[in-house]
Amino acid sequence: MNLKETLKSHFGYTSFRAGQEEVITSVLNRKNTLAMLPTGTGKSLCYQLPGYLMEGTILIVSPLLSLMQDQVEQMKVNGEKRVIALNSFLPFQEKLRAMEQIHLYKFIFISPEMLVREHTLQTIRMLDISLLVIDEAHCISQWGPDFRPDYLKLGEIKGILNNPTTLALTATATQEVREDIKRVLKIEDAYEKVYSVDRGNISLFVAQEKNHQGKLETLLKFAKEWQGAGIIYFTSKRMAEEVSYWLGNNGVSGVAHYHGGMEQEDRILIQQQFLSGKLRVICATSAFGMGVNKENVRFVIHFHFPSSIEAFLQEMGRGGRDGEKSISLVLYTEQDFSLPTQLIEGELPDDFQVENYVEKLKTLSPKELIESLQLTEIQFRFMDFYCNRLALNDKNKVEQNRLIEKIKQVRDDRLQYKKEKLRSMIEWLLSHSCRRQWLLHYFKEPILKKPAFCCDNCGYTLSGFNDLMSQKELNHDYIQWSTWEKRLEKLLLG
Ligand code: ADP
Repeated sequence: MNLKETLKSHFGYTSFRAGQEEVITSVLNRKNTLAMLPTGTGKSLCYQLPGYLMEGTILIVSPLLSLMQDQVEQMKVNGEKRVIALNSFLPFQEKLRAMEQIHLYKFIFISPEMLVREHTLQTIRMLDISLLVIDEAHCISQWGPDFRPDYLKLGEIKGILNNPTTLALTATATQEVREDIKRVLKIEDAYEKVYSVDRGNISLFVAQEKNHQGKLETLLKFAKEWQGAGIIYFTSKRMAEEVSYWLGNNGVSGVAHYHGGMEQEDRILIQQQFLSGKLRVICATSAFGMGVNKENVRFVIHFHFPSSIEAFLQEMGRGGRDGEKSISLVLYTEQDFSLPTQLIEGELPDDFQVENYVEKLKTLSPKELIESLQLTEIQFRFMDFYCNRLALNDKNKVEQNRLIEKIKQVRDDRLQYKKEKLRSMIEWLLSHSCRRQWLLHYFKEPILKKPAFCCDNCGYTLSGFNDLMSQKELNHDYIQWSTWEKRLEKLLLG
């Protein structure tokens, strides 16, 4: 069976989307491959289709629980029963049963944390892994040592699994990050398929406001005027929640909030309501989006701007997946500039935490360390990783001090790196030249063609864009917040 026939018979599609065929062919030729394809183009097909043509198991390392679960559900709906997600949230008995029958599965999704566990690894290595897929491979760099240290071990793990053909998938990675991915995974020889990060159908707008109230007013205006589906991003959970209520109370229909602090049930409900069109506007933190395959999102507004260009592109790229005109609007005030810096600094341990962690490492349990030093999960991961990696063999004071200095140095380098990313983001906001060209330049891409309604700096205005938007799709019967709230209450109270 050739590729097109497999595409038709297993997925019902008649043609490949940009990049898919080359990536699939490379994988089938057993070549390590790094593919950077825009969000929504169908990266999953790049490993699912080869799965039907290769003997053995396809092992997919995925960073996010929700993403993993969505993909498994989607594959099941499409008729694939030999698929499972292994992660730490799987109930113990189910995990046990899954591990006993692991050889029966064709597609295994796994979190990096789970994969590095000795017991899991021993079981997985008995399988005939024909393809190792690293989904959202930019996590290797973006979420580097401070977030997901287990991603850094994937190169070593690949060796333990007998070096299967490896496919790294990502939507946004600069040249530097791509090199990082190849280095960590030890696939320097990989075939690279890199697509433009440009999304010609998304118009780019930035609006400076005097203060918080100004931002709210502009937000309300557009959330009312633009009738299609939209996502509004916040860096604070509390703010996402508050603004969502405020919009609802001020006449915006079908609005709800979504963030990582909510119960999983609520999150799934909101995601589904948004996908099915019952909710129109979601006020969310960055937790919302990966794996949300909604084609017709017409606008993405950043109420707070993210701390890197890469994160910005991921988030605004959730608009216009259907190829229709969409808009990205970033609102900011001058006061906003200090917020991301505080967030970045708060992610990693401060001097006091580093010093005390090292000094008390031998006497306190991890739980006691976390409690007494008030460490966040990321701060703990960071300390745990570096204390293990830089090995504290000797308990004497000189050794301890040396370790403390080394860890502080790694932390400062990391902070510096993140601050540079933030600086680029701010530079983009303040720039007076074509915003699209600027973004492409950041990814070392030339601009081939500027679309109509390119960006504010190219002379286009939001009101001009409104005329365009008002002609579209827009007659949904969105549920009001109060109705939605009642449903949620019912669901929670059973
Ligand atoms: P992402 O690149 O964001 O991971 P997905 O793999 O989730 O995207 O795919 C996005 C959507 O595109 C899915 O609904 C998928 O079924 C659809 N899709 C993928 N490949 C094709 C194709 N060749 N033709 C039509 N639709 C496709």
